[in-house]
Amino acid sequence: MSIILFVVAGFLLGLSLQGGMFLFLIPFAGVAAALGYMNLPRVPGGKTATLPVVGSAVRATGITPAVTPELKNSFGDSDADYNEPGSTLRVNQVWARADADVKKAFGDMLEGLKRIVPNVHSLVVFSPLNSMKEWGIRAYACSNPEAKIATDVKITENTGLISQLFRPDVNRLLEGDLPGGKPLLYYIDNPMIKSVVAVPMLDRGKNRVGAVVMDSLYPSAFNQHTAQALTYIASTLYTLYFKSFVSAKNYIEQQQFSVLYHYQHQFFKNMSVKEIYRQISEYVKGNIPFDRMMILALDRQNDYNLHQERTGRVVSCYGIDADQFENKTFTLSDKGLAILALYHNRPVERTFNQSAFNAYIPRIDSQEKKNMDIRQLFVMPVPSDATAEQAELAICLESRRSDRYSEHEMNLLKAFAGVAGFAYARACQVERDKDLATRDGLTGLINHRTLHENLRTEKIRADRQKYNIGVLMMDIDHFKNVNDTYGHPIGDVVIKGIAGAISGEIRKEIDVVARYGGEEFVVGLVDTTPEGMIETAERIRQAVMKLVFDVHQQDPLRVTVSIGAFLVTPDFHDMKKAVNYADQALYKAKEGGRNQVIQYTDRTAEHVAVEQGV
Ligand code: GH3
Ligand code: MG
Ligand code: MG
Repeated sequence: MSIILFVVAGFLLGLSLQGGMFLFLIPFAGVAAALGYMNLPRVPGGKTATLPVVGSAVRATGITPAVTPELKNSFGDSDADYNEPGSTLRVNQVWARADADVKKAFGDMLEGLKRIVPNVHSLVVFSPLNSMKEWGIRAYACSNPEAKIATDVKITENTGLISQLFRPDVNRLLEGDLPGGKPLLYYIDNPMIKSVVAVPMLDRGKNRVGAVVMDSLYPSAFNQHTAQALTYIASTLYTLYFKSFVSAKNYIEQQQFSVLYHYQHQFFKNMSVKEIYRQISEYVKGNIPFDRMMILALDRQNDYNLHQERTGRVVSCYGIDADQFENKTFTLSDKGLAILALYHNRPVERTFNQSAFNAYIPRIDSQEKKNMDIRQLFVMPVPSDATAEQAELAICLESRRSDRYSEHEMNLLKAFAGVAGFAYARACQVERDKDLATRDGLTGLINHRTLHENLRTEKIRADRQKYNIGVLMMDIDHFKNVNDTYGHPIGDVVIKGIAGAISGEIRKEIDVVARYGGEEFVVGLVDTTPEGMIETAERIRQAVMKLVFDVHQQDPLRVTVSIGAFLVTPDFHDMKKAVNYADQALYKAKEGGRNQVIQYTDRTAEHVAVEQGV
């Protein structure tokens, strides 16, 4: 009889291990095997002993679940909540389903057990909580539906009877009677338990990963065979748990990596740097838990800041005190953990315990608002390539939990960072190439060709909305003298300085400013009035007058500009002509003594024509 039952058990178990579909068979296999034990011929003298110990539970069961020991810490970990409701992956739901599967199977198993051991009261599975020294209840099933079990109970070495099972030196089976009955720690309603049998749950490396305890309100409810059957059940349970949680974990990981591939694809669809910032923060928000997240970016290097210290800013921030970090600027010598990761291109992870809070370590600099609730920080650098000395970007995650970022999150983020860094480097290159074609290298202003394109676009918009565009053409006065007296390099410094002064007087992102020629600039004032245009031109003229260039001589260098202005009203359509009219007005300004603003009128045109002998 028992042989048949073992064969059935083996068959069921074999089938159930084939895949998730047959998981439900595990409890039946367990019960069949247990029944097999119950039907074994009785060992003579195999009488019930009293606690603590009757025999060794360390025996080969022939079950070798396909899990690795490091997974044991995630045993039943369903506490992985994610930030966004629209999160890509509903991790919680996956865990909850795995948990429900296990609970259901566990109930089935108890039902089966009751047939073998009619007096069983409850079956409880324990596993370590944070360390092997502290154990908690992972699952239970009770034959009395009224029974109340304290699921939050913590068992340590000193919590009485049950704790014997969790002593490091005890790796064996406990079975026996509790004379007169005893209340057990994990009951709220304290029934008098008269007999207990308990076995450790071992993984295939014989490491203790849990324990199964069965109790009864009757004395001598169990014997050695029941105990051995329970050992088998513990093995089956272990398999069930791990199959269930490991498959959930695998599912989650597989999903997490498929999200990575999705982003990899997205990254290369759009080559704009801004879009890459946006995608990084979208990915992190949807896939990695945090209480605060920041993305730091180093300012891009170009010919003019190559030898300066690198600066950067926070390009996006969510969560705790987000507004104080958003757009915050820094230099690489600032002393913060987030900058450290950028600077050394190395991930930084820190766990803060309560007592270490006297010494708050800044994220970016010492002026920031300290948040004492943060318990863990993790910064993943995003380098352009793996060998880069410094990372161009860094993703900084912070959590109120001290165990939020495990090796798994770190590996996931590292894989993401690899893809993101490569895409970012490409996007920077694309933008640099575009800049080379559209921008002037010295001043960073748009060039002649781009000016005409932009003016055309602005004119189309102006016509639709019926507003004016003011065109200013300016030229540095007596600039040849500057070059002759101080040399060409100083001349370049002056051109750059004037470009900066002009940009400072117009509306960024709205008005258009170009380096039109060597020392000539054109400004397009979008949506302006005749007075507004002249006012702005005057402001520019005065801003230039205020510039002082230190040329390492006794007197500093000062320069002036002359400005010609022309107002493009909605009834005027030729933008090239508009620039030409502004140029004619500029000619008048030069003629009138320089360092002045002249607006184009019809008389200007006649005058210029006569002067130029047309
Ligand atoms: P005016 O007041 O009539 O404008 O006198 P000006 O000396 O400025 O005369 P003009 O505008 O014709 O001078 C242009 C000079 O600007 C000639 C050239 O040497 C100088 N220049 C043009 N491009 C550059 C440049 O990129 N760098 C430097 N340093 N000088 C430049
Ligand atoms: Mg000139
Ligand atoms: Mg000039």
